[in-house]
Amino acid sequence: EALARGQLFIEYQPQVDLATRCIVGVEALLRWQHPVYGRIDPGRFIPLAEETGMIVPIGDWVLRTACAQNRAWRDAGLPGVKTAVNLSARQLRHPDFAARVLEIVQGEALPRGCVDLEITEGILIDDLDANRQVMGALRAAGVLVSIDDFGPGYSSLNYLSELPVDILKMDGLFVRRLGGSARARPYAIAEAIVAMAHRLELKVIAECVETLEQLGDLGAMRCDEAQGYLFHRPLLAEQVGALLARQADQQAALAPA
Ligand code: C2E
Ligand code: MG
Ligand code: MG
Repeated sequence: EALARGQLFIEYQPQVDLATRCIVGVEALLRWQHPVYGRIDPGRFIPLAEETGMIVPIGDWVLRTACAQNRAWRDAGLPGVKTAVNLSARQLRHPDFAARVLEIVQGEALPRGCVDLEITEGILIDDLDANRQVMGALRAAGVLVSIDDFGPGYSSLNYLSELPVDILKMDGLFVRRLGGSARARPYAIAEAIVAMAHRLELKVIAECVETLEQLGDLGAMRCDEAQGYLFHRPLLAEQVGALLARQADQQAALAPA
C-alpha cells in the first residue's frame, strides 16, 4: 500500500573521496512517510518487507528510482556519481534478478561503474556458488558490488578471497572506535582492514564517520572514501543536486583558464 500510495521515497547519503574531498557517490536509503504514524524507521519496516516478500517489488522500485535519479543529475550537467543501492537476500534469490538489474541500469544508459549493489557478507556467503554466478554476470556488465557492514558478526576472512566484489564497506562499529591513539587496538584493526582490502584490490568506504579525529585516522590509513554525519546526513535528491552543482562550480574556479 505504501508503495502504491507514493509514501516511499529515497534519501541519498553522499560518499566523499578522501583524497579530493569530492562527492563521488551516494547511497540510496529507503524512507517511509506514513500519513498517520509519520516517518517509520527502515530498521522496522524493511525486515517486515523481507519477511513478506514485498522487498522484491520495493527493491525493484528503489533500484529503478535511484538509477533514474542518477540519470537526471547527469542530464542536468552535474558531475557524474555512482549510486549505491542496498539489496536483500530475497531479491538476490529471485531467478531473473541479474537480468532485471541490467534492464534497469542499461535502460538509463548509465556508464560502467555507476551502479553499486550493497550486499552483506552473510547473504553473499549463504549460497556462494549461485551468488558468484549472478554477481559475475553483473560485474561483467560494469555493475559494482560492495560488501556492506564488513567486519562485525561472523565475517570469515576465508571467504573474502572468493567473493566477487569491488568495494568493502567498513562497518561503523570500527569507525566509532577510531580517533584515539594510533597505537590503540581499534586503530590497528581498521588499518589492517584497509591494508587487506587494498591487497585484494578492493576499495574501502568507511561508514558512519562523525568526527574529524576519525576522519584523520582514516586518511592516514589511506581509506578511499567515507560517508557519515561529519560530511552529510542522508539528503533529498534536490539537496544532493545543489551540492553537486556547488562542487562543479568550485572545480571550474580551480581549473586553469
Ligand atoms: P546501511 O546500508 O548500513 O546504511 C547505513 C545506515 O547508517 C543508514 O541508516 C544511515 O542513515 C546511517 N548513517 C549514515 N551516516 C551515519 C553516521 O554518521 N552516524 C550514524 N550513527 N549513522 C549513520 P538507515 O537509513 O536507518 O538504514 C538502515 C539500514 O536499512 C541500512 O543500513 C540498510 O541495510 C537498510 N536499507 C536502507 N534502504 C534499503 C533498501 O532500499 N533496500 C534494502 N534491502 N535495505 C535498505
Ligand atoms: Mg548500505
Ligand atoms: Mg552499511
